[in-house]
Order: sequence, then C-alpha cells, then structure tokens
Amino acid sequence: MENYIVSARKYRPSTFDSVVGQKALTTTLKNAIAGQKLAHAYLFCGPRGVGKTTCARIFAKTINCMNPTADGEACNECESCRAFNEQRSYNIHELDAASNNSVEDIRSLIEQVRIPPQIGKYKVYIIDEVHMLSQAAFNAFLKTLEEPPHHAIFILATTEKHKILPTILSRCQIYDFNRITVNDTVEHLQYVAQKEGITAEPEALNVIAQKADGGMRDALSIFDQVVSFTGGNIQYKNVIDNLNVLDYEYYFRLTDCLLDNKISESLLIFNDILNKGFDGSHFITGLSSHFRDLLVSKDASTLPLLEVGASIRERYQQQAQKCPPQFLYKAMKLCNDCDLNYRASKNKRLLVEITLIQVAQLTADADDTAHGRSPEQAIKPIFNKQSAQAQPAQAQPSVQAQQSARTPVASTSSVQSQTVQQGVAPQAQPTNTPPIRQNPIPQQSEEKKIPVFKAGSLGVSIKHPASREVQQQQTATVKPVQTEIAEDFIFNEKDLDYYWREYANQLPVEEKATAGRMMNMKPKLLNDTTFEVAVDNELVEKIMTPLIPQIQDHLRNKLHNRKITMTVRVSAPTENIRAYSRVERFQMMSQKNPELLKLKEEFGLELY
Ligand SMILES: [Zn+2]
Repeated sequence: MENYIVSARKYRPSTFDSVVGQKALTTTLKNAIAGQKLAHAYLFCGPRGVGKTTCARIFAKTINCMNPTADGEACNECESCRAFNEQRSYNIHELDAASNNSVEDIRSLIEQVRIPPQIGKYKVYIIDEVHMLSQAAFNAFLKTLEEPPHHAIFILATTEKHKILPTILSRCQIYDFNRITVNDTVEHLQYVAQKEGITAEPEALNVIAQKADGGMRDALSIFDQVVSFTGGNIQYKNVIDNLNVLDYEYYFRLTDCLLDNKISESLLIFNDILNKGFDGSHFITGLSSHFRDLLVSKDASTLPLLEVGASIRERYQQQAQKCPPQFLYKAMKLCNDCDLNYRASKNKRLLVEITLIQVAQLTADADDTAHGRSPEQAIKPIFNKQSAQAQPAQAQPSVQAQQSARTPVASTSSVQSQTVQQGVAPQAQPTNTPPIRQNPIPQQSEEKKIPVFKAGSLGVSIKHPASREVQQQQTATVKPVQTEIAEDFIFNEKDLDYYWREYANQLPVEEKATAGRMMNMKPKLLNDTTFEVAVDNELVEKIMTPLIPQIQDHLRNKLHNRKITMTVRVSAPTENIRAYSRVERFQMMSQKNPELLKLKEEFGLELY
C-alpha cells in the first residue's frame, strides 16, 4: 500500500481528449485556444466531480504550452507542461473559495494578479466554489474582473450557478458541465479496472456509476473502496451488499406481485427490505425509478434513457411488456406522492404500505370498471377506515363547535352534556362503541369526558371561560399527550442531516468556519440513535469533539429523541465522505427552500 494513489488522482485526465463525458465542451475550449480567442474570464458550472477543475487545469496548461499539438492539445513534454504536470508551475493559482472567502483572501489574490509570468504567456487563476465568496469579496474581485492585466485569465468554478451575481456572470464566458452518463462512467471504470489488473462484472460497475450519480470523482472513489474490500474481484453481489444498494431483484419480484394484485406478498417483500436495513424512503424512490425504467423500456425510442447494463436490459424489456402504460403512469405518480409526503408522515411505514396497496389495486381497478365499479370505490374503504381510526378527535370538533355556537347556553355543564349527547354519541355509533347515552353517567363524570374530545372542547372553553374544575381536568388530560411527546421519536439520516444543517446555519458569524465545516460533513447513522461524522484529519476532529454536547442537545431537542449520540471519526484516505444522490440533494435544497417542492409539484417534475 506504500505509494498508493487514489484512482481519481492517478487517472486524472491530462489532455482535453481524455476528459470523460464533456466532449462538446472540451472541443469548444480546444478550438478557442487554437484560434487564439481567449476570454479573460470563464465560468465553469456543473455538479461536483464532473471535471470542472480538471478542465481548468488542462486549459491553463494548454495555453502555456510551448509547442501545442496540431489538434490543440498540450504537448505534455515542454518545460511548461512538465511544470504543470509536476504541480510546480507558477502560472496556475488555485483558490478554494469555500475556505478562503474573505476580502483579505481576494485582496492577496489581486496583488498576485499584477505580477506577470516569468515563463510562459498566461497566469491562470482558478477560483473553486466561487459562489462561497462573501459579498465584500465579490465586490473587491469585480474590479479586477473588469480590467484584468493581459496575462491574467480567471476560471471560476461553481456547483451553484444561480448564486453567482449577474455582474460576474455578464463578465464571463459560461460553460455548463453535464453530469456524466452512467454508460460513460462504466466505460471509464472498465478502462481503469483493466489498467489496474482488476476483474469487474459490468453490472457491478453499473451500480457504482449509478451510486456516483454523474460524478466521475465519486465514481472512482467508490471504485477504490470496492477494490479494497473485494480484493480486486468486483462482483455485483458484493458491491450491492457493501454499498447498501437494494438488489434489482426485489423490484422485479415486487412489480410482478403488484401486477397480480398480490397485496400480502407485496407487503411481505417490503417487510423483507426493511429487515435488511433499507429505509422506506430509499425503497420508494428506488421503486419509482424502477417503474420509470420499465416505462422507458416499453418503447424503442426511449430505450436509450435506460441507464442499466446490457444483461439487465432484457429483463426490463420483458417485464415492461407485462405492464400496461396506464399502470406505470399511475404507479409512478403514487410512488412520487409517497416520496413527497414521506418526510411529513408520522407513520412512514404505513404510508409506504398504503402506497403499495394502491399500486397493487391499479390493475384490479381495471377489472372492476369492466363490471361497472369505479376505481375510486375500490380504493376508498381502506382510507376511510384508516382515517376514521386515526383521527376521531378531529372529525368531531366541527359538530361540537356548531352546536355550541348555535345553542345559547347558561352553564358550561349543560353545554358539555349537550355536546356529549347530541354531538358525539351519534358519531360514535357507526364505529361500534357503545353509545355514551346508554350509560347512566352522572353530570360530573360527563364533564370528565370533555377533555377526551380535546380538539372540540377548545371551542367551548373559548366561548365560555371554563370553571376551575374543568381547567384542572383539562390539564390532567393534557399530561398523557405530553408524555407521548417526551417519548423518543424515530428519525432517519435525512432528518438528522436537516437539523445538523439547521444548527450550522444558526451559528454566529464568529463561528462561520465551524459552520462551513459542518455544512461539508455528512452525518451518518450507525444505528437508531448513534451517528458519526467522518472528518478529514485529527485537527478537525479536535475542533469538532468539544462541540458534541451542544450539537447533541440541539438534535435531541429538534428530533425529539433523547438518546441521540454523536461521534467523530477521522476518515480513511480513500473514503468518500460525502456522496449525495440527486434525490438527496433535491431534498436538502427543498428543505432550505420549500418553494422548490411546490415547483416540482406544479410542473409534475420527476427526479431520477
Ligand atoms: Zn507543452
């Protein structure tokens, strides 16, 4: 393991042609260099790990190359190229705006910009994560960007283009980097595997590529992890086990059950999946994607949208033939709704189960309509029972409020007896509970009934200031509710992440370094209540450890769980600390800005 170099660095492209998945863009850059049409400022936008910084470095090297090749690439042999490749060139300066975002940082950069290069033609300044610059730093930078010296070229890189000020945008040539397709990623991983003498099943590399979600750096770092735990023989089975990916097999089996209206089997498969340690939200987004993949498999023209390996492709096509398009449309919609409601739901498991039941009924509905029954009728009973059982208190207040508003009453006790007798008893009958009226209850105990219908009693107590007795009873019945709240709630990693970020966001300005650090960490749940954050080095560990009690308190409080425990661990060098899927990223973004969810709903957007 001595001299071990992570694949992302070892196989970092050194020419435009070797950059994976950004052909159009690299060609344009090459042509610009060949035609000597260089701008003074470029903005590279795109998701993380797709090659923005790599392209910026190749660009810097190529424009300084002493004898570029005929097709506009750097020679990689001249003194300038060697200096770049050995990372000792003075003509390239990289500033990570995520950690150096103050006015002072920018001022010292501007100082350097004035000094012309000793060797070569251009000095290139790469400012990574440029959206993280403070407002003041942005302003200081703007002046230099307006009138840069001839030898200076700025390449700004960002994952969040919308955060860049229009004044900056208008001064830059903008290049949008695509996320790299699964196929391109798999191809590149195959190349790396071959170079390293590693055998790898195409399906396994496909899983890695999907997990990396368009980022080559992530893909290679996951690849490295997989190599280390498989000892150089990468198989689908051990990859899905180790990357915590749900086997396709489950989705295929489940879809068969759903098509055959087999509700019990579907619920059992879901149970199986939960027992394997997958969470419901993960499962439901996976199922949505599966339906989506089936849909695109149905039609030859959309087949290219299916990003799976060749062997599994046929299975998709086979199952797609069994699925009526209407089934797939509706199933996708139901799963997407479930996904959207997942966070808000108190009983997440039930939510997923209801969704499965609805999906399993989709094809049954078609049969029913043939017999003259509408699909709504077929689905309804399940929900009526559910909601009637779950929210008896909410159904009643309106009745009670109407009653108390309509009937002028002298004393509180008569209101109470009225509401109990007229308002509630008839409601209670259909659910088979013995009508209260039949029990010879004295007035006193009827009063005690009041707080039980707590939501309804609100109307009463506001209109008629309650007697001390009633107040006491109300506080007495509030108690059990409070102990319920004091019970530990379950939560998942997304909830955790949300409040983790909330904590970071509310830190005072003096602690913005900590806040920035926290935003870059990904708390990972180890079990129901313990989570860890992997940090880059011992130094960060030393900084983070004293913060544990405060952070813990915040999370315990927000997530209503008193057992939450935080641990800090220094990560292994090959470890990929942060890898968010696109769905996770969307969820995080929409937690910050709920308008996004509305947008998604308004336009019926789907996330894949
Ligand atoms: Zn050269």
